[in-house]
Parts: sequence; C-alpha cells; structure tokens
Amino acid sequence: MTLRKFWSILLMCALAPTALAETVYIGALAYRGADEALARWSETAEYLSWRIPGYEFVIRPLDLTSLRDAVAAGEVHFVLTNPGHYVMLEAEHGATRIVTLQALYGGKVYTRFGAAILARADRDDLKTLQDLRGKSLMAVAEQAFGGFQMAWRELAAVGIDPFKDLRGLRFAGFPQDDIVQAVLDGEVDAGVVRSGILERMVAEGKVPPNRLKVLNHQHVAGFEPALSTRLYPEWPMAKVRHTSERLAKQVAQALLAMPADDEAAITSRGTGWTIPLDYSPVHELMRELRIGPYEYLGQVSWRDVLREYGVIVVLTFALVLVLAAATAWIGHTNRRLAHSQAQLARHRDTLEQEVGRRTRELRRVNVALERDIGARRRAEASLHRSAMALQRLYEISVAPDLSHEQKLTRLLRLGREHFDMESALLHRITDTGLQLCASDGDLGQAKAVAGCLPRMGSDVGPIEIHPPPGGRCAHYLVGFPVLVDGERRCLLAFVGHLRERQPLEALDRELLRLMAQWIGAEMARQNAEDERDRHRAHLAKVGRLTTLGEMASGLAHEINQPLTAAANFTSGSLRRLQEDQPDLDGVRTGMGKALQGVQRATDIIRHLRDFVTTGVPEREPFDLHASVQRVLDLVSPEARRADVALDTGELARGGIRVVGDSIQIEQVIMNLVRNAVEASPAGGTVCIGSAREAGLARLWVSDSGGGLGVDDEERLFDPFYSTKADGMGLGLAISRNIIEAHGGRLTARQNNPGACFVFEIALSEES
Ligand code: ADP
Repeated sequence: MTLRKFWSILLMCALAPTALAETVYIGALAYRGADEALARWSETAEYLSWRIPGYEFVIRPLDLTSLRDAVAAGEVHFVLTNPGHYVMLEAEHGATRIVTLQALYGGKVYTRFGAAILARADRDDLKTLQDLRGKSLMAVAEQAFGGFQMAWRELAAVGIDPFKDLRGLRFAGFPQDDIVQAVLDGEVDAGVVRSGILERMVAEGKVPPNRLKVLNHQHVAGFEPALSTRLYPEWPMAKVRHTSERLAKQVAQALLAMPADDEAAITSRGTGWTIPLDYSPVHELMRELRIGPYEYLGQVSWRDVLREYGVIVVLTFALVLVLAAATAWIGHTNRRLAHSQAQLARHRDTLEQEVGRRTRELRRVNVALERDIGARRRAEASLHRSAMALQRLYEISVAPDLSHEQKLTRLLRLGREHFDMESALLHRITDTGLQLCASDGDLGQAKAVAGCLPRMGSDVGPIEIHPPPGGRCAHYLVGFPVLVDGERRCLLAFVGHLRERQPLEALDRELLRLMAQWIGAEMARQNAEDERDRHRAHLAKVGRLTTLGEMASGLAHEINQPLTAAANFTSGSLRRLQEDQPDLDGVRTGMGKALQGVQRATDIIRHLRDFVTTGVPEREPFDLHASVQRVLDLVSPEARRADVALDTGELARGGIRVVGDSIQIEQVIMNLVRNAVEASPAGGTVCIGSAREAGLARLWVSDSGGGLGVDDEERLFDPFYSTKADGMGLGLAISRNIIEAHGGRLTARQNNPGACFVFEIALSEES
C-alpha cells in the first residue's frame, strides 16, 4: 500500500462519521486487458481521491464498446482513452477533454505521438509507402489509433487502401513487440507500431540496431522517435456530459498539479498532465478515413439518417418529390413544348412552302393576267377598229345615193385603210387567170396578186400570204375569194409591204369575209336584176304575141267593118259605073270611102303587125312550179297591196315538168292569178295547186272572191268579155288559146265561194 492510499483510507475513516464519499467512476480503455489498465491508472484514481475530498475515484477498465456503452448510459463520470476513441465519444455523447497526458519514452516527455511503419533494413524493395502495394502488413487492431489508424491515413494519402491493395493485413493485438518481431523474422513485409516502441525495444536489446528501417520517415523538430505519420495529441482525460463542471474543474486542477515523479504519473507511463490539446488533427484523420464519428460519411444507414435527419429527410423527400413532380411536369411540358415547337416548325416550313408555292402561282397567274389584259386591250382595240370598219361597211352598203361602182370603190378603200395596205384589188377569176376589175390605191402591186391564185387551191376562206424568207418579193397579201351562187368568181385582195405584220385576227378575217360576201351578193343581185329584165322583156313580147292571136279574131269585125264598107262602096261605085250615066262624083265619093275603109283595115293590120314581132311557140320541157314561182314573184307586190295571200300549199310535191313554151304558160298563169287576186276581197287567199294525172299536168288557181257571176262559164272566155271597168276582156280568151295550142284545155267553175280556173297540159317525157 502506498502512502497516499494510506492517507486516503485514513481520510475516509476520518470523514466517515460525518459524510460518505461519493464514488466517481473513471472509465479507462483497457486495450491490453483489465489488469494492465488497472495497473496503469489505479494510482491516478488514488491520487484524485486524495486530492479531491468527498470523492472516491474508481477505475473501471472497459474495452472500446463497453466504454462507449457506459458513457452512453452515464455509468462513468470520466473517461481515459486514446485520442481516436475520445473524438468519437466527444462527437456522439458530448464528452469533453479536460487534460492531456504527457507521455514519457526514451527519457523524454511528449504530449503528441505518432506511428512508425517498419520494415527490415535489408528489404531494398521497400523504400516508400508505395512499395507496400501488394505486400503484407501487420498492425495492432483496426480500432488501434496509433497501432493502425495513423498509418492507414498515410497509406490512403498515397492511394493505397490497406484492406484491398495489400497482399495481407493482419492485426496482431498487443504487445506491439510481437509486430516488431514478426517484421524482423520476415513473417510480414512491414509492421505498424506506435512511435517510441522501436526505440524502447532497441534500448532493451530486443532488436539489434539498424536491422529495421522506417518507411515514409518524418522528421519533426523536438520529436525524436522514428515516425512515419503525422503527430497527434496524447491520451486525454475527458468528462462525460452529466459530470458537473465543478468536479471536472477539480479533477483537471488536480491532474495538472500532478508532479512528474508522482507514483500516478509514473504508472501512467508519463510525467503528469497538461492542458487539453487540440484534437482537430484526430477529427481530420477520422473524417478522411470515414471512421468513428465520421463513419456515416462512408456508410450511413437509412435508420441513422432517419433518426438524425428524419424531419429534414421527410421534408427533403417531399421537396424531392415536389421537385421530381415539377421536373417531370416541366419535362413533360418541355416535351410537349418541343413537340409543339417541332410541329410549329413543321407547320412553319409547310406554311413557308405553301406561301412560296402560292406566291409562285400568284406570280404565274399575275403574268398570265397581265398577258390576258394586254391581249384583251389589243382585242378591244381591234374590236373597236373592226366595229368602226363594220359600221363604215354597213353605211357604204346601204347608201341610197351611191352607185354600185361607187360602193365597190369605197369598200376597197375601207379595206385598204383597215388592213393598212398600199393596194386594194378585185380580180375576176377567169379560165386564163385573174383579170383586174376594180382597184383602189397603188396599182403597181396588182401583179403580186397573180402569184397567189395557185396557192389558193380550192379554199373559200381567208388567204394570208407572207413572202417567203429571203425571197425578192417583199409583199404581204391578205385576200378572200368572192363567191357568187356558190362559185368562186372573184378574188378580193389587199397587198402591202412587209412590216411588223401580226397574223390576221378573227375579226379581221370576219371583216374580209363580209366584204367578199357583200361583193358576191352585189354581183348576184346584179345578175338577178339583169336576168329579170331579160325575162320581163321576153314576157312582154310573148304577151303581145299571144294577145295578137286573139285580137286577130276578136277584132275581125272591126277589120271586117271597114273592108265590108269598102266592098259596099266599091260595089256601089261599080254599079254606078255600069249605069248609063254614071254618077262619077258619087263613084268618086264611094271609091274614096272604100279606100278609107281599106286604109282603116290596113291600119288595124299594121298596128297588129307592129304589136307582133315573133311567131310560133317553142316546145321545150320546163319546170311548171318554177314558172309558178316566177309569176308569183311578179304578182306578189300587187297581191300585197290588195291584202290577198298567195298560197302554194296545194302544189304537188316534187317538180312537175311539162312540155311547151314556158313564157306563154307563165302568161296564162299570170292572167289566172291576177284575175283571182282582183276577184278576192281584202284578207282573202288565192290558192295555186297542181297535180299529175294520166300523162297530164293539172294546175288550178282558186280564190275566195264572189264567184263567176254568169250562168254559162264559157262566156268568160269570149274575147272582150269583161265585167271590169278597165278590163279588155282578152286575158281568158288568150289564155284558153295558148293552152289549147299546147294540146291542153282551160276551164272555169264555180267554187263556192269564189271561182276556180283549171288547165291541163302534157307532161314532159322525163316526168
Ligand atoms: P278582163 O280581166 O280584162 O276583164 P278577162 O278575159 O281576163 O278580161 O276576164 C273576163 C271576165 O271574166 C272578167 O271581166 C270577169 O268578169 C270574169 N272573170 C275572170 N276571172 C274571174 C274570177 N276569178 N272570178 C270572177 N270572175 C272572173
């Protein structure tokens, strides 16, 4: 028993009657067993019990886990442990260091310590920490701060994970001398021990000097032991959370006051205690290696997280959910937006293409429209010119005071001006070629027309002839054949010099056609008029002839009367001459009167001769209906004036050809139609009909007049029978004679109302 123990017991005994000392437990890390821990720290407990009255300090040797649990359960008041373990208790349970041990080794005091990584000096392959990769390493224990964790930090700093990158990692526990021995024996390539161990073993003769070397040798001023790592503060004495500050302060003061030669200092392998050092290097080590309180950095369970940061986790999770939802929504919106933008881009592209296409179409339409407008303007101008020309053409054609030749000349000029030509020429087409019959302008071009006749072929349309390219002739010609009764009779042509000639427009061609038509119609009309004049003259002549025949018999008594008188005067005169005493004066007078009678008869005969110039009727086949038509053409003006209609509806279908003198027959038809018109009242109708029967052609003319008005129809045919004031009464008589001269007969009958006159003549053999 030490002196201090003795004093302690004594003190307790002295104090016993008054108060019981309070027990204060100091949890001490028993890393080499409870006995060793008790041996090391019991003196310190006694020292404190001695120095601080009213408390009995008791050492409770505990391993790492037990010590941690005891602190958590509040079963100890103070803790004595290695720096690493202390840092963990500080972090987890609020332990607070109050003093730091001053360690003694090699005769020197150190408040910090480190670790040495040893290898055999003869291992040339092991010079740096890097060389340990793939080698075997022996250390104290995984939780040993100086015996492993310090070296672990250095290895990690050069990129070596001792648990993965080494060939073998063995934890040999205490004593650390075994590790040194294992390295010496070559059992392992290297070993980790707390700083100072090697020096102690050399001093003790357990290790020959220079047989071992220190890897990653660190030189720190004032620190002599071999060192491979950084330095860390020595073991602390710490109070736990529930220990009062006052007691902690008393303990700290007592320990700080511990003399270096105190038994407690010696057994604790130090020289007493000093103020608490900075343990942040230890924190840094643990943080780097993610062990102790920083283990969560490397390995954090959901339970830990939830316990520590439950609310934050929940809030964070909720926030994450919200963010995720928002992100998803934004993503979805973005995708829709992107889709919409893509669609929009597509639509825009389509729209641009469509706009481009429409624009091109519009341009095309615009160009076409401008072309159309231009064409329309030209067409309007051309229409206007053509309308003016047509107007002038009309005015020329209806001008009452112009002769045919004047009209033709003006028409040619009109065309020449309209077509802007030098010459207007009208050629008659003859068997031998073209014969100029009318012109206007420069006649020198007439020859140019001659060449175009062969080129006309059988065309009845417009002719437009451009000069052949490179040819000597530079004339441009437009023309149109003039048709008369469907035959090409003339060529109307306009000739000019070649300029910027446009092809003939439809209206120009129409104008050309109208001009040619007008000329053709004029020529046809002229021909028809000529023909009609000839026909009228013929008709009148025949009329006179046929009338003469009847007049000869009709006027017989008139001729007879002067001749009878002449004969009587002559016979009277003869009788007087035969008397004895002829009355010569009476004879003279009688002969004079006889002469007068003869002369009168001669006059009558002479008058008749004058009336007649032709003789025997012709006998030729002709179309009876054509004769009817010609008669109607002559009579219709008269019928119109009398307001009498001429109806040919009863004419036999197809033509009826008869044999005879068409002029005489027309004379008969004319007599019958004229009488019928004269007999008809205003508004009445005259019907002309025909039929074929037994080799004869029958033609009748009926009217709606008052009828024959006689008992004996034959009287009507007597010469000089007339009921009309100005009538001669010869028409029917002559007509009957003509018909009978043709071997036919003419009769009249009452028709109720009106009268009907019928004649029959022989059909031609062709019928
Ligand atoms: P004119 O016509 O000069 O009198 P015509 O010989 O032609 O001589 O006719 C003789 C007469 O016959 C006419 O005056 C008329 O009394 C009568 N006559 C002729 N045709 C008809 C008729 N269609 N209807 C009634 N009487 C007619």
